Amino acid sequence: MALYQRWRRLRLQGLQACRLHTAVVSTPPRRLAERLGLFEELWAAQVKRLASMAQKEPRTIKISLPGDQKIDAVAWNTTPYQLARQISSTLADTAVAAQVNGEPYDLERPLETDSDLRFLTFDSPEGKAVFWHSSTHVLGAAAEQFLGAVLCRGPSTEYGFYHDFFLGKERTIRGSELPVLERICQELTAAAQPFRRLEASRDQLRQLFKAEYARRGFSEVKTPTLFSTKLWEQSGHWEHYQEDMFAVQPPGSDRPPSSQSDDSTRHITDTLALKPMNCPAHCLMFAHRPRSWRELPLRLADFGALHRAEASGSLRGLTRLRCFQQDDAHIFCTTDQLEAEIQSCLDFLRSVYAVLGFSFRLALSTRPSGFLGDPCLWDQAEQVLKQALKEFGEPWDLNSGDGAFYGPKIDVHLHDALGRPHQCGTIQLDFQLPLRFDLQYKGQAGALERPVLIHRAVLGSVERLLGVLAESCGGKWPLWLSPFQVVVIPVGTEQEEYAREAQQSLQAAGLVSDLDADSGLTLSRRIRQAQLAHYNFQFVVGQKEQSKRTVNIRTRDNRRLGEWDLPEAVQRLVELQNTRVPNAEEIF
Ligand code: ZN
Repeated sequence: MALYQRWRRLRLQGLQACRLHTAVVSTPPRRLAERLGLFEELWAAQVKRLASMAQKEPRTIKISLPGDQKIDAVAWNTTPYQLARQISSTLADTAVAAQVNGEPYDLERPLETDSDLRFLTFDSPEGKAVFWHSSTHVLGAAAEQFLGAVLCRGPSTEYGFYHDFFLGKERTIRGSELPVLERICQELTAAAQPFRRLEASRDQLRQLFKAEYARRGFSEVKTPTLFSTKLWEQSGHWEHYQEDMFAVQPPGSDRPPSSQSDDSTRHITDTLALKPMNCPAHCLMFAHRPRSWRELPLRLADFGALHRAEASGSLRGLTRLRCFQQDDAHIFCTTDQLEAEIQSCLDFLRSVYAVLGFSFRLALSTRPSGFLGDPCLWDQAEQVLKQALKEFGEPWDLNSGDGAFYGPKIDVHLHDALGRPHQCGTIQLDFQLPLRFDLQYKGQAGALERPVLIHRAVLGSVERLLGVLAESCGGKWPLWLSPFQVVVIPVGTEQEEYAREAQQSLQAAGLVSDLDADSGLTLSRRIRQAQLAHYNFQFVVGQKEQSKRTVNIRTRDNRRLGEWDLPEAVQRLVELQNTRVPNAEEIF
């Protein structure tokens, strides 16, 4: 428990959430290849981000070591390993990690700012914990490579480490395999492949974003749903967008919520409106204190609920709603930072769409006839967007004159599994909101400068994306996103209690499960019904299963997977869910 808590403190979000890959598997199964592919993509993006930070800030920082020793280092460049080598080769050889301002650091992670630094060697409990945790991953990688194992739990313990694997039904590891496994572990650690660690989250869409946000330097913020209409006046929404907003009168006020009143000034002070977008709130966050160029780019992400008063006739399923969520973010940056930020937005988009199995097409929309602002700034911005698109390497279209009046934009049309296009993500530059909110930061030369605002969404409306996903999979959700993962079907009323127990253990493992206790229909009708409802799996339990504490498994395509021990079946489903495979039913 103490160790578990220590790892919590070390910010490894749950022991199973840490993903480490040590070497490329020679002929990996598809899920491994996919995971390694995603890892490489995320890794490359991180390397790029660090490189751009290193370029931006070549400044000297002070590193304090135990015993009052001080060393100079270069921000975003010098690593703890380089410092260890400066101090002594023994230290460089024995250090397993560093602690920087109390936070665990990989030896290869560049230092960012003035810091207190302490090296962790195997002699300290923290050093042991790091070493053993990493050893667990080596063992896991070896087992995946050599045994085709599916990894279960396996962190370090107080006296060493372990790893649970799943090798398939009725397959256990043979004694003769142990020496080979050990040799592979040694090869993996001896190979020139250094450890590379990225934190990746699993499970659901939202967690996917949380991890991406953390890795890409976004701060997730929550802003209020209701604001005074003063804010919407300042942003320009009240003037141009009022008809599409829900206005609310505070209790005790008997004035109608219309702005058509004669006494409009007094009236507007009292009126509140539900936010139709997050940008003005994020501008307030930027403006609430003086900002320096060192804080830029400032990236704020917000999953807050948005309300728009769509006409009732235009509402459509999940694709047009009056209340929805966006994976919304706003980036405040300098004009020099624009290109890198746009590229990183595009890269973000590509990595999320890859997990969801979507392809996409990009379109650049340039200035419309009634554009606002300085034409030179527009020229420059359009050029930057073109350059970013060119470097990104995917094909894109030019929609001349189709931009918003406040700035040019890149729209993203994704293509679902049936090849149909949907407009979802968007990257928009905005020169107007920073003006309206008088946003400023202190530039490198000391003068006040105005930031550029980027509005950015990868999925756009989360609800609309779910609609697209639902249609593109025809209601047959991949297990990891499925709202109907398992239904337990007792053969007769005598098995109902055991069936309920099975359902509860599925639920306890975090799986969505139902119980079909309706014995009014024949067993085959009930199985058929569950398959038509697209439950990924049906667990049938009769007398035999009850006495042996097993379940008989079928898939929604009526594949019969036979009898499984209940805990093993649950564990297998958890693994399939966590690896986000698109075809759990086929590879169960
Ligand atoms: Zn926005």
